[in-house]
Amino acid sequence: MPSKCIFCKIITKSAPADIKFENENIIIFKDIKPAAQHHYLSVPKEHLKNVNSLSKNDHKDLLDEMISEGKRIVEQEGGDTNDLRIGFHLPPFNTVDHLHLHTISPASSMSLLH
Ligand code: 5GP
Ligand code: ZN
Repeated sequence: MPSKCIFCKIITKSAPADIKFENENIIIFKDIKPAAQHHYLSVPKEHLKNVNSLSKNDHKDLLDEMISEGKRIVEQEGGDTNDLRIGFHLPPFNTVDHLHLHTISPASSMSLLH
């Protein structure tokens, strides 16, 4: 694990985060700068750099889990899954080099700056 990676630090609990869910594969926490009332990041516990690190054979189940659990957390926290934006910022337009899936609701209220 890269020692400077903030999401690895959150995973090992050496940095704080508002964690909503974790299991052996993924962790989901609230974005520190939410773009809407509900904004969570689904993050694999393995340090994968970005979407270019994914392969269909190795990571399909992981990706399915990141998506389904991300949606489930929006629902659990009282968000509207019918008004949801879900996706990745593709490199080089990402800022954190540890793969993370955004789930944001209500999408219709999102800040234009984000
Ligand atoms: P992206 O790389 O896809 O553009 O977005 C990275 C996201 O991670 C941003 O929405 C940013 O607010 C969030 N983020 C960056 N650093 C931290 C942190 O230390 N804690 C949490 N909870 N979120 C962070
Ligand atoms: Zn990392």
